[in-house]
Order: sequence, then C-alpha cells, then structure tokens
Amino acid sequence: MNIKLSKQQLLGLLPDALVLTRGPRSDGALYLSFDDGPHPEHTPRLLDLLAAHDAQASFFLIGQQVERHPQLAERIVAEGHTLGNHSFSHPLSFSKISLRQQLHEIDRTDRLLTALDDHPRHCFRPPRGSLSVALLLHFARQRRRIAYWSYNSMDYLNQSDAEVIARLRNRPPRAADIVLMHDDAACAEQVLAALLPEWQAAGRRLLALPREAA
Ligand SMILES: [Zn+2]
Repeated sequence: MNIKLSKQQLLGLLPDALVLTRGPRSDGALYLSFDDGPHPEHTPRLLDLLAAHDAQASFFLIGQQVERHPQLAERIVAEGHTLGNHSFSHPLSFSKISLRQQLHEIDRTDRLLTALDDHPRHCFRPPRGSLSVALLLHFARQRRRIAYWSYNSMDYLNQSDAEVIARLRNRPPRAADIVLMHDDAACAEQVLAALLPEWQAAGRRLLALPREAA
C-alpha cells in the first residue's frame, strides 16, 4: 500500500503542544488568524469589524511592522486579541536561511511582542508556512509551539472580494478550524463583513487561539 500524506496532514499528526493545526474544540469555536500585519490602513478597519461583531482573533505580526506601527499593535492587544510571531522581516524562503538566522528573526520579534502583551513567548507561524526540520526539532526541544492553520481562505490570490466570498460560502469553515487570512490587504475585512454574520448565525463563536504557555 502506498500512502501519500500532504505536509498539512503530516503536521496534523504531530502533538498539539508542538504544532497546532486546529484550535481547541469548544462549543462551535472558530479561530480567525491574520498574518503580515499590522498594516496602517487595513488593520484598524479589521479591528473595527471584529469589535462590531464581538469577535476575537489571533494576529501573527511581522516584527518590523510592529516597529513601524507600535500603536496599532497596542490596539490589537487592548481589544483582547492574541499575538503570534510571524518573524521579523518575513524572509521569502524562511526554511532556507540558517537556523541561527531563523532564531534571530523569531527572538527579535518575541521581544517586541513581549513588550506589548507581557507574555515571554508566542506561537510562531513561519512565513508562507516554510518550516525546516531543524527549526521543528529546536521547537520540540524548547517545548515551543508552531501554529499552522486548517482552513486557508486564500485571500492572497488577488481574486475579487465577491469571488472569495462565494468560494468560502460554498465551503464554510467548521468548528475548531484555524482560518488563515491576511490583514495587509483589504480583502479579509470585506469578506468577513459579509461572512462573519453568517458564520455566527450558524453557531460559530469567534475566539482567539490560546496563548503560548510561559
Ligand atoms: Zn506571511
């Protein structure tokens, strides 16, 4: 028998304490996550939308964007969302740089995030999901956690908002899914303005991912 597993399926086999591919199952919980912010134009609009729907989410921030827009990162925390680490400079191929450089990217961003939320460590989501075995082993040794997703909105494909809405409506996320979106463009906010009320009406509760244990 020849069994072929996708990278996502393989990662799903690892313990949740090391790689999170789904959120905790509790009562229809759904976990929105936003990568690549904070963005001066799009993040505030998204935060307004989430607040209007009493929805919490997780923001995987890029360190250098935090340095550029610290007040926005503060607002994310003040409004009850959780922070994740998405590297300092979002290298094109994260798994190809040296482990030392990878750790430097992660540690530098952790320090920025800790100054905001007082938590020493944050779930790490590698840019473009590009994960090296060396980093995976390092995280296992350090008992640190990597956060992936189970539902990719593909909001980065430059489709029209209407196309993305139709696609996601056709295949809505299920309970405990971690939804991958991006707040460095207008798409996520436009799409969620249409779909959040539908998902909530269907019993989904929008929650932030749990924080990384200290
Ligand atoms: Zn990214």
